[in-house]
Amino acid sequence: MKYISTRNKQIKVSAAQAIVSGLSEDGGLFVPEEFPKLTKADFDELIEMSYAERVAKVLSMYLDDYTYEELLGYTEKAYSRFYGEDPCPLVNVDEGLYVLELWHGPTCAFKDMALTMLPHLLSAARKKTGESSKTLILVATSGDTGKAALEGFRDVEGTDIIVFYPSEGVSDMQKLQMMTQQGDNVFVCAIEGNFDDAQSAVKRIFTDKDIQSQLLANGYKLSSANSINWGRLAPQIAYYVSAYCDMLSSGRINYGDKVNFCVPSGNFGNILAGYYASLMGVGVNRLICASNINNVLTDFFNTGEYDTHRQFHKTMSPSMDILISSNLERLLFEFSGRDDRLIAQRMDALKKDGKYKISQDELQRLNRIFSVGYATETDTCEVIENCFEVYDYLMDTHTAVAMSVYNDYYETSGDDRASVVVSTANAYKFPCDVYDAVAGEYVEDAKKATKKLHSFTGEEVPEPLADLDKKEIRFTKIIDKNDIADEVIAYTKK
Ligand SMILES: *Cc1c(COP(=O)(O)O)cnc(C)c1O
Repeated sequence: MKYISTRNKQIKVSAAQAIVSGLSEDGGLFVPEEFPKLTKADFDELIEMSYAERVAKVLSMYLDDYTYEELLGYTEKAYSRFYGEDPCPLVNVDEGLYVLELWHGPTCAFKDMALTMLPHLLSAARKKTGESSKTLILVATSGDTGKAALEGFRDVEGTDIIVFYPSEGVSDMQKLQMMTQQGDNVFVCAIEGNFDDAQSAVKRIFTDKDIQSQLLANGYKLSSANSINWGRLAPQIAYYVSAYCDMLSSGRINYGDKVNFCVPSGNFGNILAGYYASLMGVGVNRLICASNINNVLTDFFNTGEYDTHRQFHKTMSPSMDILISSNLERLLFEFSGRDDRLIAQRMDALKKDGKYKISQDELQRLNRIFSVGYATETDTCEVIENCFEVYDYLMDTHTAVAMSVYNDYYETSGDDRASVVVSTANAYKFPCDVYDAVAGEYVEDAKKATKKLHSFTGEEVPEPLADLDKKEIRFTKIIDKNDIADEVIAYTKK
């Protein structure tokens, strides 16, 4: 199967090439030429499989320049780094209501689902494409991607990784996780600016031929670990398939039944994978896109206009504090009937004017499968407290945004079919806000809040977060957002 650019369908590359380069040279995103379909027989087979086998099977349908055995080798390695028995348990919290926990990986957030896989896919892709330069992974992060990518790529041969994060835009715990990162091929740097500044600067480097030739002279070619990379997105499709299999095998649903997924969204990569799963044959009724008060996506699905001219809010769900959701481009590509020119125009407009509008027809078709909503900071707190009291279930701030939006959806629609709230982080990743929500006391220090949250709830602190305070701080640099490119070039000169 070949991959084409959302901005120019003439650009066609293999899966390995798409993964090595991350972004298409025209600035577009790679998408599969067509979506593979899962049959009833496939589901019968998948149900019997382990999670690692399920992912390998789904990936083998997309990445045909890798064998199933090869992929299984990677998934087994990747998911053996997860703690607990099941890498992504589907927890039944109420009649017909499930929470899909995607945070049992090495950094306790859902980014691990794909970022433990991507380095394996990328290393193999480098060999398959005969790449001789080193691969430099550039990441702009709103918190969780950075740490998960650093963990995934640390000491992976032939790669270096640089992560930029907004100095005031991530949680204490996230910052601490990144500043203490180990590995000889890693560099972490804070910027004065917000996530969109970091992401825009990184994206510019990817399309700047001049910078790229300077990097090449220093022996490096760029790639991306952000969810614009197909190698990030593909493993995410698998957990939607897996959750559906779990519901089938528990007898809660029958083959062909449709379920709802409510997804806390930022860059739109997670929920997009859910949409792709539906195209493969997973029974999906509604994909509910949940935002915090940075609700550009809510407005977009309501009006058809994507407008970034709005105030940027820092919230207690920082991984969703995003105004430019990159992966929406892939969704619009499908809903425009794969009109590459139109997508290129809109993305141009987004860059120049900070906005674009889709047609009423596209909007109507989008609304047939997507529902939207957003949660305020108060809603988020209340839901954390409420779910802890009622379900005895402790959730993080991002998951709480989704739970709040799901509750609203349930009340207004009366739709009581089986529904999955996608849980993207462990509660201890955001201990200050979670402790405040359940105990009504704000403790500023993440380590202290962790201890208090533990004694208040009795919930176990996950291993990877438990020993953070014993680790050495290695990275403290802060730079201006305009100096990102210079910083990258300087790193490659070393
Ligand atoms: C990244 C992240 C999100 C947003 O996911 P997208 O794929 O960017 O929409 C939500 N919650 C957490 C905890 C995250 O780390």
